[in-house]
Amino acid sequence: MLGGCGLTNPNRRHQFANLYYWVRNSAARQGVAPAAVRLAARFAFAELRLQRVEIVVDRALCIGSGDCVDTAPDVFQLDEEDKAVVVDPDGASVDDIIAAAGLSRSAP
Ligand code: SF4
Repeated sequence: MLGGCGLTNPNRRHQFANLYYWVRNSAARQGVAPAAVRLAARFAFAELRLQRVEIVVDRALCIGSGDCVDTAPDVFQLDEEDKAVVVDPDGASVDDIIAAAGLSRSAP
């Protein structure tokens, strides 16, 4: 097993869900997370007919590596606690945001 990925907190009224993933350390930085996130997002839009999928930063797990900021600086920034925050969800392409979300071995 390389990790896990799925959709959670579905909101049928507003047709969106949150997307989560994790990757085991030995499989980090091999493209596992971006590939899994793309498949889950494709499933959410094509099969579940969701209108929006949210990738949520779990501040309790964020280690402040800044990899997401380096990849999509108009979307992510580190705050005063060195935790990632989303400053503009439309600041990069969907592919760049997915790549940014999957960069760090422990990107939450
Ligand atoms: S890449 Fe992940 S761990 Fe690093 S700052 Fe961004 S959200 Fe936090």
